[in-house]
Amino acid sequence: MSDCLFCKIIAGQIPGQLVFQDDDLIAFKDINPQAPLHVLIVPRRHIATLNDLTPADDALVGSMFRAAAGLAREHGYADRGYRTVFNTNGEAGQTVFHIHLHLLGGRALAWPPG
Ligand code: 5GP
Ligand code: ZN
Repeated sequence: MSDCLFCKIIAGQIPGQLVFQDDDLIAFKDINPQAPLHVLIVPRRHIATLNDLTPADDALVGSMFRAAAGLAREHGYADRGYRTVFNTNGEAGQTVFHIHLHLLGGRALAWPPG
């Protein structure tokens, strides 16, 4: 996807502050952090929204949550608490159409979300 911002970060064409990577995923710091820890966990393969997932992606999505939990633990937030969020399409505020799991930690997070 030549016009996708996260594909460009994955390809190294745009810099990203990487905090984790493996064969299927990368994770980098959000450019506009909403908490002391705000990381985006992103599959290397372009998938536009959660609506585009198929059963073949089940393990991939599971690995995204496991990566988030690992990063939260590394930062000392496993017991304190943290939030993982996928925004999908307009009313949820999705702005980058390459799926990404937000990991937020390091402050008390309000519920319900705004
Ligand atoms: P969404 O609104 O689609 O759920 O989340 C997109 C996220 O990507 C936002 O939190 C936004 O701050 C972040 N973002 C947008 N552009 C860039 C960028 O160029 N680099 C990084 N690291 N994050 C970005
Ligand atoms: Zn992409």
